[in-house]
Amino acid sequence: MNKEHWQEMLHHVNRHIPLEACGLLAGTDNRVEKVIVVRNQAQSPVQFVMDPYEQLKAFEWIESNGLDLLGIFHSHPAGPETASATDILEAAYEVVHIIWSRIEDHWQARGFWIKDSDASEVRLRIIE
Ligand SMILES: [Zn+2]
Repeated sequence: MNKEHWQEMLHHVNRHIPLEACGLLAGTDNRVEKVIVVRNQAQSPVQFVMDPYEQLKAFEWIESNGLDLLGIFHSHPAGPETASATDILEAAYEVVHIIWSRIEDHWQARGFWIKDSDASEVRLRIIE
């Protein structure tokens, strides 16, 4: 992904403090081309549920633009910095799960590949 994608996600999660925020990453060949923010229907500081209508719209947009779903991001405004047990349990798609966590006003993002109840970290790369 490029810096703009990074900033878009950061801006989205930051502006929803103290609630969790979420969205999707679309692209091809592991290269992000579009960040799509999705409303957190749960409106909760410790949980996210993608608004089903917005999620459907986003999936349709991704398909009609010939892109693939590459990742799902959501925030942990009060930590932890890794995928929670619930995140692992509820991971429905084999894509990179990006967790934005906030520690003392500083956001960081880490990527995880979640499969068979196990989360392994994947490297996120920012390109120019
Ligand atoms: Zn989570």
